[in-house]
Amino acid sequence: TKLRVGLLFGGRSGEHEVSISSARAIAKALSAEQNANKYEILPFYIQKDGRWLAGDAPQQVLGSGKPLLESENATNPQQSQLTNSQTKTLERWQSPSQVAEVDVWFPILHGPNGEDGTIQGLLTLMQVPFVGSGVLGSALGMDKIAMKMAFEQAGLPQVKYKALTRAQVWSNPCVFPKLCDEIEATLGYPCFVKPANLGSSVGIAKVRSRSELETALDQAASYDRRIIVEAGVVAREVECAVLGNDQPQASVVGEITFDSDFYDYETKYTEGRAGLLIPSPLPDQISRQIQDMALQAFAAVDAAGLARVDFFYVEATGEILINEINTLPGFTATSMYPQLWSHSGVAFPDLVDKLIQLALERHSGKS
Ligand code: ADP
Ligand code: MG
Ligand code: MG
Repeated sequence: TKLRVGLLFGGRSGEHEVSISSARAIAKALSAEQNANKYEILPFYIQKDGRWLAGDAPQQVLGSGKPLLESENATNPQQSQLTNSQTKTLERWQSPSQVAEVDVWFPILHGPNGEDGTIQGLLTLMQVPFVGSGVLGSALGMDKIAMKMAFEQAGLPQVKYKALTRAQVWSNPCVFPKLCDEIEATLGYPCFVKPANLGSSVGIAKVRSRSELETALDQAASYDRRIIVEAGVVAREVECAVLGNDQPQASVVGEITFDSDFYDYETKYTEGRAGLLIPSPLPDQISRQIQDMALQAFAAVDAAGLARVDFFYVEATGEILINEINTLPGFTATSMYPQLWSHSGVAFPDLVDKLIQLALERHSGKS
């Protein structure tokens, strides 16, 4: 009998559309000849308001590639009147009876509410295997402050940074200038102000002056309780894909090229604005070091299954600094993660198969 794969996509995050593209690519791979007799797809689509849909609706989204608006599925008027979003989420994930039929989950949700341990906690409670990192790895990988602390412990070099909370940023007007003074003295300009728990460069600002710093801190605080400010570096941006559980493998190293000031949202998602160089034309010894650091980073946050680890390579000094780990990286046909593996000898359908097998292996307690 076929293994029923619960493909979980969409989600309550700014990366909803990317998730749909990733899910389409994975669904296609699961239907490829070598996987079709092994796996059956049960798609679940999480709408932007958090409602879970099973059956025809997710098939429709997978087919069209377009999000389904909340209103298009308000079958029960009473449901849409619920205001407590937690009640809403709970009622909705329990509702599709197909949930009970899933043998293994493949969550392909990016950003908050999907990549941060929340869904992973739900799936853990359901006691069904799932692809990717567990609660700890996902949460550590999402929060840039906790991530940096884990990397620091592992001895991985990274940029200087300062962690702040919203309460500090929005504190009384006597404290705030001191905070800014301290950032200027320790990090200097340009520096990067980021909400700690987002992705796709959302809410990130590169700042060059006191007034830009003040505005950026205020804006970041509106996105997240936790904020990080980092010293800016001039560097090439290189990425390495990791696959496995306790004995993970690192892919070839890839590089991102672009002309904009930094790799912001627009550069990431506007066709033709960024290029991928696979493999990156780095000296072999640097690539090997990056692969080694990627594996250390994977272990440092207790990631599982897959992760993409991103680095800054400061050519002027030869320094390699770790930037971040992404535990559910973009997985569209043209995304860096699957492309790095296809250049490392693992074709897209094999990669999807391997990830499901790793999920089963991890659940069985072997790794
Ligand atoms: P996200 O998780 O949203 O991708 P990142 O921390 O990777 O956030 O930052 C997004 C982009 O911003 C990076 O790819 C890089 O182009 C730029 N950037 C972020 N931090 C720094 C830094 N400290 N120095 C230089 N560039 C940076
Ligand atoms: Mg990220
Ligand atoms: Mg990034």
